[in-house]
Formats: sequence, C-alpha cells, structure tokens
Amino acid sequence: MTTLDAIRLAGLPWSATTARADDPAIVSDVSMCVLASSSSGNCTALRWRENGSVRVCLLDAGLSPRKTRNWLRGVGTNLAQVRSILLTHLDRDHCHVGWTGGRIPGHITVRLHGRHLSRAEEEGLHHHPIVAFNDRIELSPAVRVRTVMMSHDRLGVAAFRFDFSSPGGVVSLGFATDLGHVTDDLVECLSGVNVLAIESNYCPMLQAASDRPAFLKRRITGGRGHLSNHECFAAIERIAPRGHVVLLHLSRQCNRPELVSELHAGSGYSVTIARHDRPTGWVNVGTADPVVSADLHPVVVPGLDRSDPQRKSMVPR
Ligand SMILES: [Zn+2]
Repeated sequence: MTTLDAIRLAGLPWSATTARADDPAIVSDVSMCVLASSSSGNCTALRWRENGSVRVCLLDAGLSPRKTRNWLRGVGTNLAQVRSILLTHLDRDHCHVGWTGGRIPGHITVRLHGRHLSRAEEEGLHHHPIVAFNDRIELSPAVRVRTVMMSHDRLGVAAFRFDFSSPGGVVSLGFATDLGHVTDDLVECLSGVNVLAIESNYCPMLQAASDRPAFLKRRITGGRGHLSNHECFAAIERIAPRGHVVLLHLSRQCNRPELVSELHAGSGYSVTIARHDRPTGWVNVGTADPVVSADLHPVVVPGLDRSDPQRKSMVPR
C-alpha cells in the first residue's frame, strides 16, 4: 500500500501528510510559469517531473496556438509535453478561439467544470474530447486538484488547489483568477499553499477615472467580475501562503505594476507580477526560496521588512 492509498483509506486531507521518498506516486521539480496574463490572454504552464518524464499542464489557453507554441519553446518546453489543459472558464481571454473547432492536439486532455459544458459546445470546443470535473481532479496519483467554483459573470469560474506528492512532502499551489469576490470556501481551500497565484485586476481609482462605460465598470467591480488590488491583498492575508505570490491579470487600462508593487512591498512574502507581453520565468513551487530564471527578466518584489532601508522593488519598465 502506498502512502497515498493509506491517506485515502484514512480519509485524511492529502495536504496534511508527508510523502515518503520511496513512494512510487511522487513527483519532483514542480514549477510554474505564467506565459501571459491580462484581458488580452491568459495562459500558465505548470511543470513537474514524474516517472522520469516531464509533464506540463496548461492552466487556461487564452493565447493563440502560435503564440502558445512560441512562448512554451521560449521557456524551454513544448506542446508535446503538455498532457492536459485545465480551463478556469471559457471567456475568450482564457480559451482562445484558435483552439476551438478541433485544433487542440489529440494527446492533450481538456478539462473543464461541468457547469461550462454547454458553453464549450457553443464555443466549438466539443470537437475535442472533454473531461468534465466537479470538485476534484486527479491529474495523476501524485497530483491532486481541489476546485472551488467562484462567482464570475453568468457561469462562474473555477479556482484550483494543486497538491503534489514530492520527495520532501506535499507541496501545493493555489490558482485563482477572475473572481467576483473572495469567499470563505476559497480561503479554506487555498489556505497555507506554498505558492499562490491570484488576480490583482484593478485600482478602484483608475477604474473610476477611466472612460469605460458605466455598465462595464459595474460588471468588473460589482462582486461578479474581478478583484481589486486591495481585495487581492486582503485575500492573500487570509490565505497566508507559505512562500511566493504570483499576481495575475493586471488590467492594462486600470492598473499599474508600480501600484501593486508598492502595496505588497514589506509583506511577509515575495511577489512576481505577471505581464501581458512576456512570460514570468519558472517559479519553483514548494521551496522556501523560489528561483525565477533570470534570463526572462522576472518582475519580482522581494518580501522585505518595511523598515529595511535597503528595500527595493523591481517593477517593469
Ligand atoms: Zn479574464
């Protein structure tokens, strides 16, 4: 019996346990890279090593197939390594029209929430075999995912907690974007993850001052759209990730990386700010000091003490 079988039989939460190095169901080198994140396209690669081979799972597929292939290659992987695509929801910035109509390679499993099945058919995604999930997904015996449905427009959005059984114990990633608002269920699900990727969409003042129509402002800020910078900050305080935070989906019109950087500087965690126009580099999941590959010009705000006179924030130029 493996450790994981024992956990299943005991009914214990998977994340509350330690995997043994000799357990056959373990993975290593877990890392994530946001290829791009904004209202013009969202796609994140999650990569790990399992049974001697590299596995990649895409979280959302909101970039064109050509851009996805090129940027995957740019960060040292490729579509052949992608085994599955997990879709948070089916808005165009999360599911690019270029993938519909049967254009997803056959070796990739597409997974989406059961609530999104009819929309998938409307969008032409049903030409590719789809696996619907509800509240749990097993990507492999060593990679388990819990999902929480959050409010976002009509059909909602799925947020994920990934638990990886690795040689040093279970390491975890929380991934939540396009949230109308933060709920107790979300906080409970993502609580204490090693790395938290969460959206920080807009600055309320820039939103109010923008020339966007009133209905759009209401849609974004009304509890079924996106999180503001401060709502994101408050969510991180409640979720209390153990390591690194990756901020997603900054509005290009109604947000500024410098504002976000300033808000989080001095917090107990370090931050990577995802961009719309280039990948973040790989962020290690489950190590105390996430290494982000320097050649990709990472945007990192060190989590230093506010009183530290050396405190500096690296923000995009
Ligand atoms: Zn979006």
